[in-house]
Amino acid sequence: MGDSDAGRDACHGAARRAGADDRRQHSQLAERSLARWPRELYLLLADEIEREAREHRAPTLTVDETRGIDQMLGAVENGFAEALAEGPRAETLAERRALLREANEATAQQVRAYYARPWAVGDADSTVRSFLCECGNPSCEASVELAVGASAGPVLAPGHG
Ligand SMILES: [Zn+2]
Repeated sequence: MGDSDAGRDACHGAARRAGADDRRQHSQLAERSLARWPRELYLLLADEIEREAREHRAPTLTVDETRGIDQMLGAVENGFAEALAEGPRAETLAERRALLREANEATAQQVRAYYARPWAVGDADSTVRSFLCECGNPSCEASVELAVGASAGPVLAPGHG
């Protein structure tokens, strides 16, 4: 497995929404009041991601309401320590900014991919999401609420950058 495979698999594991507990997974999706066939698609995708993670022996983490954010962060740091140590790491200002840009582009892409689905109602560009401040200061934890259509440039919190 190459570095990019490991990173992708770690991301799949980290991004795993419902874990192995199918009952909880079904319950969470039912709470979102999804129509039947989008719900079935999400369940199939979750099964596929879980199968790929197992196949590549990637560490996985169940994300549910049993842990708070601090506990979940600790579990990610423990469970994915090896993948995190492998990198990639952003050491310079330019690298940090590039990584933050990539994360924000991924957020915008997720919204656009959702609205590209046949059952989606609404407009991706006017959907407001939280984007990371791209100032690149290692201590910056700011985020900015922006419409997806306005997220193309560097996103900067007021007074940053
Ligand atoms: Zn900032």
